[in-house]
Amino acid sequence: MIIILLGAPGAGKGTQSARLVAERGLTQLSTGDMLRDALARGTELGKQAKAIMDAGKLVADDIILAMIRERLTASTGGNGVILDGFPRTIAQAEGLDKMLEEMGLRIDHVIEIGVDENVLADRIMTRAKESDETRDDDSVEVLQKRLKVYHESTAPIIPYYQNRGKLSVVDGMQSIDAVASAIDAILKTTEERS
Ligand code: AMP
Repeated sequence: MIIILLGAPGAGKGTQSARLVAERGLTQLSTGDMLRDALARGTELGKQAKAIMDAGKLVADDIILAMIRERLTASTGGNGVILDGFPRTIAQAEGLDKMLEEMGLRIDHVIEIGVDENVLADRIMTRAKESDETRDDDSVEVLQKRLKVYHESTAPIIPYYQNRGKLSVVDGMQSIDAVASAIDAILKTTEERS
């Protein structure tokens, strides 16, 4: 099973991914985590990505697609994969479709977690305060830049998946548990089909 979680920064993609990993044994592939890992290991990629991430901009599509290809190939044998924070552009969505076709795989669900952006700043600030390792990109200023990038580059992939009959939307303003139940109900439709 391949699931894509979409949503603005702070919508709760990471929280819901972690739960799906714990409860269903899915493998989470987060391009943000991969980039932070590269940075922590001091690789050339990590060094290049840092300035882009700190500015709230997007890392180049070809770099992201190469990272995903490597990890997807290694993860296909398990219970399924959640893509968190990827794709973030139409070019990435198209690259992913091509890659999956070559691998004989397909996307089962694209789930958009919809949120009121006025509350996102509060969430991001709370996350910054609660986190032991504060993310350099968790500030209101960078969040505003990230939201702008989200609208310009990432939001267009919502109609891309809608047109392909893949998209489901959940209300991300509910409690974490209610969002989780809504996601479970969507995933159940695949389980019933198979
Ligand atoms: P995230 O943890 O998903 O919020 O990602 C943190 C940062 O990593 C983003 O603001 C981007 O700079 C970069 N990044 C993560 N995933 C992608 C992606 N799919 N395409 C481009 N840049 C990405």
